[in-house]
Amino acid sequence: MTPVVVVGAGPVGLSAALALRAHGLPVMLLEADPEDRERPGSRALFVHRETLALLDGMRPGLAEAITSYGRTWHTRRTLYRGREVYSRTFPAPSGRPPFTSLRQVDTERFLRDACAAAGVESVWNARVIGVRTTATGAALSCADGRELECGYVIAADGARSAVRAGLGIPMEGTHGEGFHVVVDVADRPGAELPLERVFHYEHPGVGGRSVMRVPFTGGFQVDLQCHAHDRAEEYGTEEAVRRWLPGVVGGGHDEYADRILWVSTYRFLRKVAASFTDPHGRVLLAGEAAHLFPPFGARGMNSGIADAAAAAEAIANGTVADYAAVRRAAALFNSEAAGAALDHLRPRRRIIRLRQRAAAALAPVLPSCGSWLEHAPYGPRGGAPALSGRRY
Ligand SMILES: Cc1cc2nc3c(=O)[nH]c(=O)nc-3n(C[C@H](O)[C@H](O)[C@H](O)COP(=O)(O)OP(=O)(O)OC[C@H]3O[C@@H](n4cnc5c(N)ncnc54)[C@H](O)[C@@H]3O)c2cc1C
Repeated sequence: MTPVVVVGAGPVGLSAALALRAHGLPVMLLEADPEDRERPGSRALFVHRETLALLDGMRPGLAEAITSYGRTWHTRRTLYRGREVYSRTFPAPSGRPPFTSLRQVDTERFLRDACAAAGVESVWNARVIGVRTTATGAALSCADGRELECGYVIAADGARSAVRAGLGIPMEGTHGEGFHVVVDVADRPGAELPLERVFHYEHPGVGGRSVMRVPFTGGFQVDLQCHAHDRAEEYGTEEAVRRWLPGVVGGGHDEYADRILWVSTYRFLRKVAASFTDPHGRVLLAGEAAHLFPPFGARGMNSGIADAAAAAEAIANGTVADYAAVRRAAALFNSEAAGAALDHLRPRRRIIRLRQRAAAALAPVLPSCGSWLEHAPYGPRGGAPALSGRRY
């Protein structure tokens, strides 16, 4: 019997496999896709300091490898309808940076290398289609007919988790309205944009939609918050992005429009699994198999990696019930926090928009107003343990 099987080689499954190895447990990692798959797009860019600490605990040196590759900026700016309302440059920290920014595919590359070095047994083209649990273990069925028995399963098979579905655990929560468009743009060598994160409320260059620009190694991500009545084909196709991008990053049509790497639309779900484990405590849900949040505050991947670390520890210590309670509480907190950020960014009540306009008008004389406009898009901090919320 294989002691522990991890299902899914996304960032959470890879981290879980690494964490299990750090506890000295043999682990098999099952992934539905082939080994040479291409994972497109920047997706979850931010790796927070707390996440770096967890990863370094799983594999010493991993945090240093990731931060040396990623980018950390020290300047954050916020604008409102073309006028700056907040700008702050922080001194570079002496130790580990507060975050590093790199494409998710690059984070996964570091994790895959670390898993290989740690002796994780990875099985590709292995799609799990069924799961059964008893008081003493779990059995998994794969699409190719393979059957596996194990002591525990960490299910990190993403938003459409077959393991969660097989256990009959529902997701509870809400569908947000609307979507945003995520675009990756390659840097122009020798003419890189300043190394800063910029949030622009009601950008005049794109019909008053809000826009965030975030650097990563080799380029930057632009997030466009679409209005409720916008249609994806008007803003979310590559052709549409070529039209609106120059209005928000400057330059002529060709300067950036020809450097688009990836375009995606992203809808806002706030859902948390009704339980993070099965009744026998043999399967532990982690990452997007267990929770889906809007991306504001970068809670998805970061809290998923915290789940991974906690799941491995729970299996090593025999405390699965605690895992399920603690990580579900963290997910509920994150869901609330991301919901607060979403309410700020897509106000359902006119009063919130008026408050933002008033804060922007007062910001030059009342810095706290600029500070509120800067921080609110990422939701509240603090609360439940381990990566419940951060600002960047
Ligand atoms: C288009 C898109 C844009 C995004 N943009 C952002 C963003 O801007 N900011 C942000 O913070 N986050 C973003 N995210 C979310 C972020 O990518 C996730 O938080 C992160 O990938 C979650 O990691 P995970 O390991 O839990 O799940 P996943 O990364 O989904 O990994 C799950 C893995 O399980 C495998 N798998 C699935 N089913 C099975 C099965 N039955 N058997 C075996 N293996 C299986 C999959 O192939 C995959 O490798 C985005 C996601 C998408 C899809």
